[in-house]
Amino acid sequence: MDVQAVVDALNADFLTTGPQVRLFEEDLESEVGAPCVVVSSGTAALHCAYSAIDIQPGDEIITPPITFVATQATAAILGARIVFADVLRDTANISPDAVEAAISSKTKAIVAVDFAGHPADIFELRRIADKYGVFLIEDAAHSIGSTYRSRPVGSLADLTTFSFFPTKNMTTGEGGAVSSPNPILLEKARKFARQGLVREPGEFLIPNSGPWHQEVHEFGLNYRLPDVLCALGRSQLTRLKEFKTRRREIFDFYSQALSNLDWLELPTERDYVDSNWHLFPIQVPPAFREQIFSWLRQNNIGVQVNYLPAYQHPVFSSYKIDKLDFPNSEAFYAKEISLPMHTNLVERDLEMITDSILKFNSF
Ligand SMILES: *Cc1c(COP(=O)(O)O)cnc(C)c1O
Repeated sequence: MDVQAVVDALNADFLTTGPQVRLFEEDLESEVGAPCVVVSSGTAALHCAYSAIDIQPGDEIITPPITFVATQATAAILGARIVFADVLRDTANISPDAVEAAISSKTKAIVAVDFAGHPADIFELRRIADKYGVFLIEDAAHSIGSTYRSRPVGSLADLTTFSFFPTKNMTTGEGGAVSSPNPILLEKARKFARQGLVREPGEFLIPNSGPWHQEVHEFGLNYRLPDVLCALGRSQLTRLKEFKTRRREIFDFYSQALSNLDWLELPTERDYVDSNWHLFPIQVPPAFREQIFSWLRQNNIGVQVNYLPAYQHPVFSSYKIDKLDFPNSEAFYAKEISLPMHTNLVERDLEMITDSILKFNSF
């Protein structure tokens, strides 16, 4: 099905800038509940979102440490100062209380990350954003297909960003999208992703040019997603529900099989959230984490650790961050292991994985 969609797109008139782009954006809008611009990666999507809110050197954004560093990199590259707010002990999502404590007169945006697919506490963050007149951005690289109080991720924040990297909940190989219920912000994101080109005659600042004319008012980049990949994305979208069901089955299998281990903490889910689980993050005693990780890798189980708190990356060394200010992020990182979570896992794989953990338990 995916293969046929790609072959059809390769045989069509446009490899890029063709009809599949608009169609993928429309299909995405029906999934995420707000208009979308498709771009070439989740990183590009974040860069477009930060550009859309006009981040200037010296502006601050408040972010969680437990994320992939693209959340911060794309704002820092525009000159933002990155402010970290600790995560909640259970979901590893940004703590609304820590966010409010970190607000300053320079804050431009609160940036939430839906860790593992579980939406952040968006209503509490929305209240804080409105109280201080700052933007709310949601890095939803993990969470396309998740809902928060019955509303789809993508319709909740001022700008939401998605990634379609192969490990994520749906893929275009490389790809991403920005969604926004605010047409002005979305148009700014779109222009930034399309070289800043202005094509509407009504908007031209150079009058009476020929029919070939297009002009640039603000610099942009080429973050286009080719038609071939948009066709793949449309095909993937038709199966997103099926993927979500399978991810939920895997989540339930792990939760059930590992529920009796008192040294192992399972992921939690708020009762008003319906996650499209991207990761299955377990927490184990820090003293055993490396041993368990290596044991599982020796058994050919593709475990990972998500994530090194972003401020620990040497690129932040000039920030002089004190880890003691982020006890929950530090504790989470010290204990976390992500079990395999993808739709190709079969019951035999799941049994093998949970048996390996139970075997470790008996040592
Ligand atoms: C994957 C990811 C990104 C970046 O997406 P790419 O498509 O790989 O550029 C950004 N933020 C988070 C939280 C991610 O997991």
